Amino acid sequence: MSKKSYRPATQLVHAGQMRSNFAENAEALFLTSGFVYDNAEQAEATFKGEIEHYQYSRFGNPTVAMLEGRLAAIEGAEACRATATGMAAVHAAMLCQLHAGDRVVASRALFGSCHWIVSTLLPRYGIETVFVDGGDLTAWKQALSRRTAVVLLETPSNPMLDIIDLRAVADLAHTAGAMVIVDNVFATPLLQRPIEFGADVVVYSATKHMDGQGRVLGGAVLGSKHWIETVLQPFTRNTGPALSPFNAWVILKGLETMALRVKQSCQSAAALADHLAQAPGVRRALYPFRADHPQMALARAQMADGGTLVTFELEGGQAAAFKFMNALELIAISNNLGDSKSMVTHPATTTHMRIGAEERQRIGITDGTIRFSVGLEDVADLIDDIDRGLAALRG
Ligand SMILES: *Cc1c(COP(=O)(O)O)cnc(C)c1O
Repeated sequence: MSKKSYRPATQLVHAGQMRSNFAENAEALFLTSGFVYDNAEQAEATFKGEIEHYQYSRFGNPTVAMLEGRLAAIEGAEACRATATGMAAVHAAMLCQLHAGDRVVASRALFGSCHWIVSTLLPRYGIETVFVDGGDLTAWKQALSRRTAVVLLETPSNPMLDIIDLRAVADLAHTAGAMVIVDNVFATPLLQRPIEFGADVVVYSATKHMDGQGRVLGGAVLGSKHWIETVLQPFTRNTGPALSPFNAWVILKGLETMALRVKQSCQSAAALADHLAQAPGVRRALYPFRADHPQMALARAQMADGGTLVTFELEGGQAAAFKFMNALELIAISNNLGDSKSMVTHPATTTHMRIGAEERQRIGITDGTIRFSVGLEDVADLIDDIDRGLAALRG
């Protein structure tokens, strides 16, 4: 089917589908590690690249290829490679192109493992890494005044929902010779398409909104056909972060409902942010589309909706945060996000424990900060549960 002419919700259901000669309606699950050849000549021609033929599922698999086709269509990217996890996607997107002596500039407020790759792993290989405050364009300008190979950033950021000006940073990065990689997990391709703002590569954890139902891990790297085929593909073929066809199939089915799920979660998240912002015991509630978010105008300029996460700060620090979380009956305590089930996280003692108090302070994570991933429950039940938690603080 011609994917370009269809709108995102339609692409999420149909794009990338390839039917076998059994004419199945749903995407087939090709749970096979290898493939066979009609004769030795066909095997030889396949390895020479003269014909297209699947060889081995580390290199490619039809179910995984359907997912890659669907993700490329929804992102508006030329090509996609799916990976076993979101971290495999981030790691591959960086390591496939970096060399000793290169320089990387990244926003400070990154997902914990992305922060570790930049701060700890890359320097081991002689790569210079620099962190900047994502919202500070002067800092980006200064950091990118020297030749740079890669820029990595995340917007909205985890967990403080800071917004980075994609267009401005991409322009500065390109002047410094850098390739821009955007971790677009929080926004999903439905709310933000970084390539339209100048990003070169977009990475995802498909574990989050794409599966969206807490079942499997997965990831994806999207970019130009030339870069994916000549730079990323040789790296992934030989280092092996391949996605299981089974997980690809689960994520394909997850994508079919993603537009509905994300829309509903955004609507509930906006209502919950408004509720939290005026509730006693809450110091502030952060939501990118609320008028009191410091970067609301930028968020509205580059995102289609405010997202599925709300971050808020309770008065009373860690003791209050723990009391609140322990009083919840419906909303789970979990470090995951982008799920149909609502979850809260206390970043200072879990996801952002390892970065240390000083770095947490720089990012704005206090001991009273709670990250709330809004799911698909009835919003009135979520508000009741939040009120139950807040009541425990007064009791
Ligand atoms: C979850 C997440 C990742 C890592 O994805 P995994 O699938 O857990 O490996 C990377 N970046 C962001 C922003 C995430 O939320």
